[in-house]
Amino acid sequence: MRHADAGYDEARQVAAERGVRIPMPHVLGSDISGEVIETGELCERIKPGQRVLLSPGLSCRQCEQCLLGLDNQCRRYHLFGSVVDGGNRELLAAPEYAAIPIPDDLSFESAAAAPLVFLTAWHMLLTRARMEAGEDVLVLAVSSGVGMAAVQIAKMFHCRVIATAGGDAKLAKAKELGADHVVDHYKQDISAEVKRITGKRGVDIVFEHVGEATWQKSLESLASNGRLVTCGATTGYDANVDLRFLFSKQQSLLGSYMGTMGELHKVLKFVFNGTLKPVVDRVYPLSEVAEAHRRLENKEQFGKVVVVP
Ligand SMILES: [Zn+2]
Repeated sequence: MRHADAGYDEARQVAAERGVRIPMPHVLGSDISGEVIETGELCERIKPGQRVLLSPGLSCRQCEQCLLGLDNQCRRYHLFGSVVDGGNRELLAAPEYAAIPIPDDLSFESAAAAPLVFLTAWHMLLTRARMEAGEDVLVLAVSSGVGMAAVQIAKMFHCRVIATAGGDAKLAKAKELGADHVVDHYKQDISAEVKRITGKRGVDIVFEHVGEATWQKSLESLASNGRLVTCGATTGYDANVDLRFLFSKQQSLLGSYMGTMGELHKVLKFVFNGTLKPVVDRVYPLSEVAEAHRRLENKEQFGKVVVVP
């Protein structure tokens, strides 16, 4: 399979956060697209020559959770590039169920920038936080993969989106993506801006993945009956909650991890028909993968960094 790939930062982060030991040497890369070179004799659906992307999540397909369609809660759920080798390579073997054909007009680079982040954002907003049309949504760190996905999904459901980013260039890109309001999280007070924009009410949903650095401001930004949904803790996991506000304002704190195969198929429909657009920050040849990592570590990217073998 020839492919392009991105998304390694999220997978590595999640594995580290869960205390998972990663066997070394290790090949990174959770989001994978490419052409099928060869299929096994039991494959019925996928044929050689097809252009596909791969589900980043793999599961046992036999346990109660898997058979209920909750495969991201399978005890054997794992990601390409996390505890098993990922896609930063020229050839890769994958189970047939993970392969999803992509339309001819979708480039491998865009396809590789889609699955993990759109799936994660979809599961967070729709399944966990039960987002409804017209709600107010605060999306933190919109320049991240999940951030750019969340803004687009929330706008697709006609929500009002307040997005945070660092620096004017990223704020401008957040507006281009559809954010109604932008907040510079380095220069402005996030919750004060949210209160100003919403007329002191706060937002219905806070889309969290930053963790310790923004947690307090995220809680302060929540309206009554608000839902805070989080899929990560990039800046640290030691957070406090003032229980008086949690119960009296009837708020919900929700954890979220990836999403199901069914949800992946659902959200990809909107990627394939062009409604949701993967944001590719930059494409590197695989030989320059170290440079691609430096770009992520220096927080220079807006969207996904893709490598092509
Ligand atoms: Zn299972």
